[in-house]
Amino acid sequence: MTAKIIDGVAVAKKIRDDCRGRVQRIVAQSGTRPGLAVIIVGSDPASQIYVRNKIRACANVGIESLRFDYPADVNQDAVIDRITRLNDDPAVHGILVQLPLPPSFDMARILHSISADKDVDGFHLYNVGGLVVGGTVFPPCTPYGVLKLLEHEHIALEGRNVVVVGASNIVGKPMALMLMQHEATVSICHAKTRDLAQFTILADILVVAAGYPNLIQPEMVRTGAVVIDVGINRLGDGRLVGDVNFDGVAAKASYITPVPGGVGPMTVSMLLVNTITSCERWQQQTFVPIFSKFPARVTK
Ligand code: NAP
Repeated sequence: MTAKIIDGVAVAKKIRDDCRGRVQRIVAQSGTRPGLAVIIVGSDPASQIYVRNKIRACANVGIESLRFDYPADVNQDAVIDRITRLNDDPAVHGILVQLPLPPSFDMARILHSISADKDVDGFHLYNVGGLVVGGTVFPPCTPYGVLKLLEHEHIALEGRNVVVVGASNIVGKPMALMLMQHEATVSICHAKTRDLAQFTILADILVVAAGYPNLIQPEMVRTGAVVIDVGINRLGDGRLVGDVNFDGVAAKASYITPVPGGVGPMTVSMLLVNTITSCERWQQQTFVPIFSKFPARVTK
């Protein structure tokens, strides 16, 4: 068997085309343009590239973006003060703080100071809770992108055995919860899992987000499995690879995502989707009642 390679670049492009249409409709109906504020602390080179890509993607679909740069030694209260002002700014529909933050920062405090109504990364406790009980407002972008890839390929989830390797708060855990909502039977593995292969071999669908090159070898994968590689690892020779031995596993799987060009492009596209959804909620006044700090709509 040779796997079909899922083209994340092509799927992400379709989503961005759709985003462009939604932005045009919002502007035509309300005169408002969706706005995303991006906060970056420090000068981590990878984070700088990610932020640049997000801002470029916003421009590409017509979302207004605002960028706020802080030095690594800034007092975190200054960042929280900025977030508070952005929470109250009616021109801003999404706020994201680029991670990682410097070690001196209380990441939870920063993330939870973002209004749940503008939490387009989906990291606020309200949105995390929504994943548990169903009906979250903003699904976290990377697992949301994985779901969209599966949906695009018409890969059914109901009743399937899905194994998620990686249990981080931003990828593995929300991924598992979202798959459970689609009535998959989900196992979650992490660094302390004993004999990883005894789990992965049972997977109809294997999602890998460990950050460990070549973690998944062909003998760990069932023939015909769907393999989604979320990992991004920079090797010593400069090459970018995922967590899966791509050539070996592609010979056994039915579907596989490449790195680069698989999940990566989807993550930014889903950020655009969440930002536009937020603006549409503002337009329709359908806010989260408990945490809402969204300012009332200003009529012109
Ligand atoms: P993270 O916070 O470091 O979490 C990694 C997870 O993998 C942890 O749960 C860890 O287990 C588990 N793990 C590590 N080594 C393992 C092993 N040998 N066997 C089984 N599990 C193992 O990383 P993350 O932020 O979730 O990101 C994971 C990967 O996805 C990274 O390569 C990152 O660059 C990539 N990523 C890609 C995108 C994208 O857009 N494509 C977005 C986000 C992240 P413990 O919990 O026990 O430590």
